Order: sequence, then structure tokens, then C-alpha cells
Amino acid sequence: MTSEKTTALVTGGSRGIGAAVARRLATAGHRILVNFRANDDAAASVVEDIVKAGGEAESLQFDVRDAEGVEHALGRVIERGDAIGIVVNNAGVLADGPFPSLEKTQWDSVVRTTLDGFYNVTRPLVMPMVRRRWGRIINIASVSGLIGVRGQTNYSAAKGGLIAATRSLAQELAKRRITVNAVAPGLIETEMIEHVDQDRVLERIPARRLGRVEEVAALVGFLAGDEAAYITGQVVGINGGLA
Ligand code: NDP
Repeated sequence: MTSEKTTALVTGGSRGIGAAVARRLATAGHRILVNFRANDDAAASVVEDIVKAGGEAESLQFDVRDAEGVEHALGRVIERGDAIGIVVNNAGVLADGPFPSLEKTQWDSVVRTTLDGFYNVTRPLVMPMVRRRWGRIINIASVSGLIGVRGQTNYSAAKGGLIAATRSLAQELAKRRITVNAVAPGLIETEMIEHVDQDRVLERIPARRLGRVEEVAALVGFLAGDEAAYITGQVVGINGGLA
């Protein structure tokens, strides 16, 4: 099997980077499952755009933190014979704060979305990929998981953990022609960073601009393709020179 036409699941595909990734993978001919947690209008609009452009897509609601909910939703997709060859673990949240006052809820929401989300979503999809001898697992990490960011102890821990999981799983799956990579964006223009003081951060970014969602999507699109077959266990930065 090759990537020529498979089903691609994008968690958090309803907005921001995930929506751009969903659109990009659709242009490569893949059928897209646009996962969302709460914003069904946003997910429906991504699906509509893809279909209008001649692609195939459907929205799929689940909260990546909810093991049973994920199992149920993915179980239905697998049972109907849909082969999910590409998974992009993109769903993520921020809950920043100085560590001494970081609430347990802030810690849990970030760590559970990133790490439990990775486990809950990826694990049921791996054996079907192993049987088909082809797969792409792409985890959206962050520069924060590589170099740390003040006020993001929870987010850095979660994204650093995701990077470590990427490297281990890549070793397990490489001989089955399944690649596992992480993409580590710097600051990308989405709703997630609306609260950030842009003038202050731009000074620290050598490229002196924020990244665009389409730029991250292009990188994910490359990693999902056959040309990237020999790239696995890597963390690819996309950050304007920030790290
Ligand atoms: P947005 O806040 O714009 O979008 C987040 C997406 O994740 C939404 O689709 C949201 O769904 C979904 N989501 C959140 N929690 C869950 C959940 N528990 N279950 C299912 N879906 C969920 O974020 P970005 O596009 O900016 O970020 C995407 C990824 O990129 C994240 O992992 C983030 O950490 C990472 N990243 C972003 C950077 C940036 O500068 N923007 C920099 C580095 C990394 P819904 O619409 O239903 O709420």
C-alpha cells in the first residue's frame, strides 16, 4: 500500500493548524476525518470547503481526553472498513501560568489533551496500519517542548513527552513502513495565540513574523507522503529561526 488514497484523521481539525492540515491532505486525494471537540460549525465549514473543492471529508466528534469516547468513535470508522492510514495528532490547548500558582486543572487539561490524546487516538489505529504495512503518524508538538517557555511548564512537559513518545514509537514501527514524526511549530497565527503580546515576541523571532497555518500544513503534507518514507523518529521545527 502507498499513501495514494487513504483516510486521514486530523484531531482538532476544525480550526487553526488542524483545519489547514485537513485541507492540505484533502488536496493530496485523501479522505479526511475532521475531528473536533465542541465547535461543530467550524468542523462543518472545513468539511464543506473540502467537498466544494472536489475532495471527500466528514466531521467526527470526540474529545481526545475521553478514552471511551475515542474508542467508540474510531471503532465505528474501523468497523465500516475505513482504513485510516494517516493520523495527525494536532488537538491541543494552552493553560499558561506561573508554576507556583498553576492549578491542577491547568496541568491536567494540557497534559491530558496532549498525552492521553496521543495514546487514546493512536493506539487503536496502529495494528490496522501494521497489517497494511503502511502508515503515517504525525504529532504536532511545539518549540515549547524543545527549549521550554516561561509560564508553560504544563505545556512544555506535555509537548516534550509527545516528542519522546514519537521517538520510541518510531523505533517500534519503522520496519512495518510506518513513520512517526513530530512537527514543532514556533508561533503560528491562530486563535490559540491571540492573547500573546505580538510586538514583544516578534523581536525574538529571527524571521520577524508569525508562521502561517498553510506553512505548517505543507510540512505535514510532505511528511504524510511517500517521499518522506525514510524520515522517522524526527522532530521537524517550523519556527522562523526561533530555535
Ligand atoms: P486552536 O486553538 O486554533 O485549535 C485547537 C483545535 O484543537 C480545535 O480544532 C479544537 O476543537 C481542538 N481541540 C482542543 N481540545 C480538544 C480535545 N480535547 N479533543 C478534540 N479536539 C480538541 O489551536 P492551533 O491550531 O493553534 O494549535 C494546533 C496544535 O498546534 C496544538 O497542538 C498546539 O499546541 C500546536 N501548536 C500551536 C502553535 C501556535 O502558535 N498556534 C505553536 C506550537 C504548537 P474545537 O474547535 O472543537 O474547540
